Amino acid sequence: CGIVGYIGHRDAFPIVIKGLQRLEYRGYDSAGIALFDGNSINLSKTKGKVEDLKKKSKEISVAGTLGIGHTRWATHGVPNDVNSHPHYSNSGDLVIIHNGIIENYESIKQALINRGYTFKSDTDTEVLINLIEEVQKTEGVKLGKAVQIALNQVVGAYAIAVFDKKKPDEIVVAKLGSPLAIGVGEDEFFIASDASPFIEFTNNAVYLEDEEMAIVRLGKEIKLRKIKNDAVA
Ligand code: GLU
Repeated sequence: CGIVGYIGHRDAFPIVIKGLQRLEYRGYDSAGIALFDGNSINLSKTKGKVEDLKKKSKEISVAGTLGIGHTRWATHGVPNDVNSHPHYSNSGDLVIIHNGIIENYESIKQALINRGYTFKSDTDTEVLINLIEEVQKTEGVKLGKAVQIALNQVVGAYAIAVFDKKKPDEIVVAKLGSPLAIGVGEDEFFIASDASPFIEFTNNAVYLEDEEMAIVRLGKEIKLRKIKNDAVA
């Protein structure tokens, strides 16, 4: 399983697809990608290989300089197209990729259902993105802060990347258990499970430690923050 992301000035699609292929050695059963074209999120996902995803992506617009991609090793929900990542929040504004397991997803899912949320997939991951959305709404906080608050409510392991189409100059990432690296380029950032997807673009890699998160924002330096107790704006 693996995650890849790009935000910058290049077309994200080829970078993310090639990055996912470099991470194929990690093993997976499905693959998916979400791209922001300046207006909307375009998403493609499928059970099968990255090569299958590449073919299926001919059905969507692959324009955009912001993108996240995923290879899934199913833990909750069978390997199929619907359970493949990325997953949207109920509003359709947020999108997530996740490697790992949210152990207490059932109780959180029930609480969200009680608040009117619906779920398309059987994954723990779709629960997490809707928890983030619920925190954003009820606390009136920005995405980074909402991710931090949500992660303090979950038990499990994760490497995640999340973006909000209302704020397409940033990707929020966090890590506990699964690996996550950020490649820092000139006015561009790469995100990946290891440095192999971005090694040809930059030598400047920042590795998140467990229980760290970062807001990867264009024009800003990367600051790693502790999920448990650092102030996140
Ligand atoms: N637990 C998540 C799922 O089953 C992520 C699995 C993974 O690490 O790829 O969808």
